[in-house]
Amino acid sequence: MLDNVRHVQHTYETMECIGGMGIVEETIMPRLYREAPVNAIWEGSGNIQCLDILRAINKQPKVLDVFMHIISQAKGCDLRFDLMLKRLKSQLKEAQHSEFCARSVVEQMAILLQASLLLQHGKSYVADAFLKSRLTEGHHQYGTLPYGVEAKRIIENALHITAL
Ligand SMILES: Cc1cc2nc3c(=O)[nH]c(=O)nc-3n(C[C@H](O)[C@H](O)[C@H](O)COP(=O)(O)OP(=O)(O)OC[C@H]3O[C@@H](n4cnc5c(N)ncnc54)[C@H](O)[C@@H]3O)c2cc1C
Repeated sequence: MLDNVRHVQHTYETMECIGGMGIVEETIMPRLYREAPVNAIWEGSGNIQCLDILRAINKQPKVLDVFMHIISQAKGCDLRFDLMLKRLKSQLKEAQHSEFCARSVVEQMAILLQASLLLQHGKSYVADAFLKSRLTEGHHQYGTLPYGVEAKRIIENALHITAL
């Protein structure tokens, strides 16, 4: 679900980089933009997937234990992560009885899983940028990363990976 949201935002940002040409139908961009939300529609809509996750947790609570065990491997690596993990635990208790919270809780689960993997296996400056952009308030638009993020190293690392 989260990737779907970012996909739409990313396509929009790409349009803006190209400028006015980005919205002209003779280019590929309008089609890419129009089709970006499809990931949240086919193979089960985003909302239904979130409800399914709650259903699975309620039906077999052990799946949640396994999930929490996996993400908790990164506990103690970063205070921001630990705080969000604590928040998720209390929100999960509410969500198990309320479908209203499904999207918000599943979003947090997805972010925490990504953060956990990055903290354990990723480069520290990439993990830090991820936590700054996803676990703190007010940095969700492109280009709003706070000062101090090692953007140059992240770009060099990405270029190195694509060159392989
Ligand atoms: C490009 C594309 C390719 C596709 N390929 C395939 C394919 O290969 N195989 C296949 O089987 N299907 C495929 N689909 C169909 C796709 O799985 C359905 O479009 C999707 O499951 C949504 O169903 P629907 O279109 O009937 O909308 P609806 O089920 O009417 O849903 C509309 C909205 O209502 C919400 N909603 C529906 N029921 C509930 C509920 N009980 N509680 C809360 N919210 C609800 C949904 O989240 C959604 O936002 C494809 C769709 C597209 C667009």
